[in-house]
Amino acid sequence: MPVVAIVGRPNVGKSTLFNRIIGKRVAIVEDLPGVTRDRNYFEAEHGGRRFLLVDTGGFEPDTPDRLIQQVRDQAQLAIDEAQAVLLVVDGHEGPTGVDVDIASMVRRSGKPLFLAVNKIDSFKREEEGFLSEFHRFGIDRILPVSAEHGRGTEDLLDAVMTAL
Ligand code: GDP
Ligand code: MG
Repeated sequence: MPVVAIVGRPNVGKSTLFNRIIGKRVAIVEDLPGVTRDRNYFEAEHGGRRFLLVDTGGFEPDTPDRLIQQVRDQAQLAIDEAQAVLLVVDGHEGPTGVDVDIASMVRRSGKPLFLAVNKIDSFKREEEGFLSEFHRFGIDRILPVSAEHGRGTEDLLDAVMTAL
């Protein structure tokens, strides 16, 4: 079964998106960065295609530097086993260095990359202009979503299915 990995820095909404896609609350959603302990795998289906969805974030940070290293390690493991990668970023905060790092890791892997710009809860948020800042990542497939409200997630999945 093809594997779709959800990667990204802590607190961007990876686990919320994971739960939204599988339609169940399996992954723990936390308000504080980096406290998710689990690494979740779940079988999902979209448009008649089945795939294994992986949520990353199973680490306990001690120092900020260590946290960033752990995010990178987790992302690399997930990228290695995936057929397609969903990089989640925070569309309200805008791009960060860690986002750029993870994007380059995926690019080095040569695997299809989809950028989910999360927390775009309304059209008003879309108009705030954060989305355009992500265009400098050089990723073609940029999809605004709200994992919390389900906005844009169908389009995101339609896009990901084309890579499986
Ligand atoms: P993770 O660390 O990347 O797995 O992020 P979580 O899924 O645990 O979410 C981190 C925080 O972001 C939680 O407080 C969520 O409620 C919040 N969050 C997730 N998705 C959205 C969204 O689409 N919109 C908004 N406004 N908040 C969100
Ligand atoms: Mg999480």
